[in-house]
Amino acid sequence: MNEKVLTQNFGLDHLFRIEVYLEQGGYRAAKKALTEWKPEQVLEEVKKASLRGRGGAGFSAGLKWGFVPKKTDKPKYLCVNADEGEPGTFKDRYILSHNPHLLIEGIVIASYAVGIHDAYVYIRGEYEVIALRLEQAIAEAYGQGYLGKNILGSGFDLDLYVHRGAGAYICGEETALLESLEGKRGNPRLKPPFPASVGLFQNPTVINNVETLANVPFIILNGAAWFLAKGLPNDGGTRIFGVSGAVNKPGIYELPVGTSLREIIFTHAGGLKPGRKLKAVIPGGMSSPILKAEEIDIKMDVDSVAAAGSMMGSAAIIVIDDRTPILEVLKKVAKFYAHESCGQCTPCRLGTNWILKIVKRMAEGKGEQGDADSLLRLAANIKGRTLCPMGDAAAMPVFSIAKKFKEELEASLKVKT
Ligand code: SF4
Repeated sequence: MNEKVLTQNFGLDHLFRIEVYLEQGGYRAAKKALTEWKPEQVLEEVKKASLRGRGGAGFSAGLKWGFVPKKTDKPKYLCVNADEGEPGTFKDRYILSHNPHLLIEGIVIASYAVGIHDAYVYIRGEYEVIALRLEQAIAEAYGQGYLGKNILGSGFDLDLYVHRGAGAYICGEETALLESLEGKRGNPRLKPPFPASVGLFQNPTVINNVETLANVPFIILNGAAWFLAKGLPNDGGTRIFGVSGAVNKPGIYELPVGTSLREIIFTHAGGLKPGRKLKAVIPGGMSSPILKAEEIDIKMDVDSVAAAGSMMGSAAIIVIDDRTPILEVLKKVAKFYAHESCGQCTPCRLGTNWILKIVKRMAEGKGEQGDADSLLRLAANIKGRTLCPMGDAAAMPVFSIAKKFKEELEASLKVKT
């Protein structure tokens, strides 16, 4: 059975052009929502579908939309997070480059549901060609009346802008994204207040990931029950899993929410190269806690991965085999977060650099007994004590690696006498 939804037409030539998208039934969902449904009906249907955010936190998209005040004199905004900076994550760029109109259609429907008339796509600076393609698609949508004034004669207006980031990981954090979009340095804001009430330019704002919004047209066309049946009762639909690392067939795989991690690695991604054994898996992008080989018999949905002590995150699965020293993995993690800390709060600014210092000396053969314990202490002192979730993102993989692979780390030490 073909379970693909978002990626079903990816093989089609020039799908990114509006003529091809329309031939495939494109913008039918927007037409249905804007001309047949009231905004609150759209919102209810998305709530019923249990569409959980595909960017990292896994929060219900319908609930998030519902937090935005219905009656307000202030303008409301939709910001699409297309920063995709989490290491190992490469799914949104496929949607943006193969099928940008699907995202635009999702944006139109979401904006209609929440009463938004200005939307932004915040796209990472490195996605230059993709940003150009998206801008071309937006121009086509304006040309055919799917954006702009009085969309499809419904009386609903929406303007959509593309804003390019400059390559900072932290701008994928929602409040840092807002700061950056306002033209400031991308430093996260203290929460509360949350963006639903005080967001872009201090106004109510919805922030959704690309894949999250790309699901919306299918929910409107086929109904919440159809979407739920694709996945699990509290986590509907499919997910685009991005598999990288030591597998035979790295790439994206769109599969039902709840597919087992073992099945994704060994059936869909072709398993490991001959003679190699699985050592560990990072299941949801680099910031998710590592799982050992014996821990991969889990369902890949937000709640099941959390129950296994890790995080579904962006569904970016990084596979590590027995030939990769865990210290090398740790070095990459430590280097990345020390570099990307914005420096606003002390535990993250200093803690990530202390972690890097220890990991570097371990990798240089100058490690000391007790280094693994120091890493555990440092990571524990960062977690939960920072202004934004990047502190946790930096601490969790270090903590889990130092805990689960302590023996290997200690064995790799050259102890000074
Ligand atoms: Fe900046 Fe790190 Fe603090 Fe987040 S946790 S605000 S990235 S210093």
